[in-house]
Formats: sequence, C-alpha cells, structure tokens
Amino acid sequence: MTTALDQESIRRAPKVLLHDHLDGGVRPQTVAELAAEVGYADLPATDASELATWFRTAADSGSLERYLETFVHTVGVMQTPAALSRVAAECAVDLAADGVVYAEVRFAPELHVEQGLELTEVVDAVLAGFADGAAQTATAAPGAPPIRVGVLLTAMRHAARSREIAELAIGYRDRGVVGFDIAGAEAGFPPTRHLDAFEYMRRDSGHFTIHAGEAFGLPSIWEALQWCGADRLGHGVRIVDDITVDSAGNATLGRLASYVRDKRIPLEMCPSSNVQTGAVSSIAEHPIGLLRRLMFRVTVNTDNRLMSDCSMTSEMTALASAFGYTWSDLQWLTVNAMKSAFIPFDERLALINDVIKPAYARLIAAA
Ligand SMILES: [Zn+2]
Repeated sequence: MTTALDQESIRRAPKVLLHDHLDGGVRPQTVAELAAEVGYADLPATDASELATWFRTAADSGSLERYLETFVHTVGVMQTPAALSRVAAECAVDLAADGVVYAEVRFAPELHVEQGLELTEVVDAVLAGFADGAAQTATAAPGAPPIRVGVLLTAMRHAARSREIAELAIGYRDRGVVGFDIAGAEAGFPPTRHLDAFEYMRRDSGHFTIHAGEAFGLPSIWEALQWCGADRLGHGVRIVDDITVDSAGNATLGRLASYVRDKRIPLEMCPSSNVQTGAVSSIAEHPIGLLRRLMFRVTVNTDNRLMSDCSMTSEMTALASAFGYTWSDLQWLTVNAMKSAFIPFDERLALINDVIKPAYARLIAAA
C-alpha cells in the first residue's frame, strides 16, 4: 500500500529547493516586529495577518514590475546585522519544518547596505543566521536529517555591481556561498549587460544561475545559456515557445529546447510565482506539465514564500493535484533538484542515496 499523497504526507517527504529569495520569505510577524524595532514607518499595515494579506494581494496584480515593489518593505526592514541574521535563521527553521532537506537561498547583498553596512557584513550576518537556524532545527528534532542551506549571492540586473557581487561569491565560496545569480525586471536589462561578472565566475570555476525566460521569451534564455554560460535557468518557462505539440500530443522540439533538454540544463520552475506575475495563467496550464512529460531537467521551487503564500509542500501538492503526480513523480522532481544543486557531487549523491531515496521508497511501499 502506498502512503496517501496529501498535504501532510508531502510535508514529511524530503524536498529540495533551489530557488528561494530570502527577502521574499520573511514571516509577516517578523516584518511587523522588525519595522517597529528599526523605526521603519512605510509599512502598509502593522498587524501581521493584515500584512500577510497585503503582500499576497499586491503580488497578485499580474505584473512582474508590481510584484517586485513588494520587496521594498521586506528589504526596508533588513538593514542591520541582527535583522538579517534573524530572517535567515527563521528561513532555515521554516524550510526544515516544511520538509526541505537541502535549500539554496538567494539574496542581493547590495540591497542591504542602505544604513551603511559593508557587503561583507551583510553576507556574514546572513550566513550566521542560517547556521543558527540549522542548529535550532537539529536540536528541535534530533535524529531527523538536518537541513543544509547553501547561499547564492544575487546581483540586481538594473544595477552595475554584478562584477563586485561575483567577486564576493567567489570570496565566500568555502564559507557557505555556493553560487551567483542575477535577478530583477528583465525588460531592458538583458543578462549580457553583466558579461564580465559571468566571465569572472567562469574563470574561477564558480557556479551561477540566471533569472531568464520568465517575463521574456526565448532570446533571454538563449543569451543566458549561450552567451553568458549559465549552469541553470531561473524559471525558464518560456522554453515552451520552442516546442510545438500537435493534436495527438506529439511534441517537436526546436534547436534551443533540444539543447536545454539534451544538456540536462536545470529549470528552476516556480509555479505559483509564475501565475502571480502572469507568466502563465494557472497551475494546471503551467508548462511544467509538458516539460516533465518530455523529461526536461525540471525542478520545483517557491521563489517568494511570503508574496505567493506558498511552501514547497503547497507547490508539490498543487502539482500533484493538477497533473496527477504520484510519489515517483515527486521523487523524480526532488532528485532532479538535488542533482542540479551547486554543492559538490559527492555531497549531492550522499543526500540522494542516504536521505531522499530511502524516504520515498518507504512512502511508495508503506504498508
Ligand atoms: Zn526568483
């Protein structure tokens, strides 16, 4: 007998998260408390539940630009070492409680220097917070696999600090930073503006992902891969524009889609976030259904847990119900993500063989 696939059993299953923004996953209560502590007066509400609703509604507006506005408030209260450490610690605790065994969480250091912090102080505070959060979860549930968190440093695509942030990522590579990313509104800011940062990462054999193919189509995916050399694609949903499906369901892949599938390029898909920004119209119509069927290297992610009011559990549950996924599908998606992580191969393999596969085997065969 197989364990029933529901919200609670999915929560307990091990999950891997590669695309989650630190400033997009702050607890509403923490936003309110930090704002009061640091004297941040611009919040649209001071009550935690009103704030939660406000974030969700503002992010639901259907445009990427409007969606990004919600970050002004979370970033606004994350300007001190104590605030950054607290948010990172709570992030690790919340992800562990959601059954995440490995996460790569990203943030843009350059957004947290409004009150004079150095970039290194920002990174130090976040790393200390993650270590603290991981230690708390190990104490709370002894014997359970501890959560491991790797950090990605993000540069903002409209700004001009990407080379500096790439250097920071390499500088911290043996202290918890596992890669680099660029994010922000795609319109008018192609990834090729940041070529020197990507060349720096490649010269130092560093890993990086690029937000591409979310609001913009195939050219942004092509640039990210073939010009910039990205290891993974943040979103990448628009790769479906290079796939045609006939009335019998047979798919024909264009050159770029073939390349992405042949090279096993990981797609960091974030279903709820894509629906919110209008990149797709519903979870049921999300290209993840087709891409999973065609065996692309699909992974499932949260993007911004606060703005989308989601978790790895809710994303997996929504996909299972939209596409009839079984435990085997969820295991496949989880192993895909673990294979695509930026930590060393032997460590990925250990998590797959010692943590993920045994747990799914039990779920599939549970008597
Ligand atoms: Zn993102």
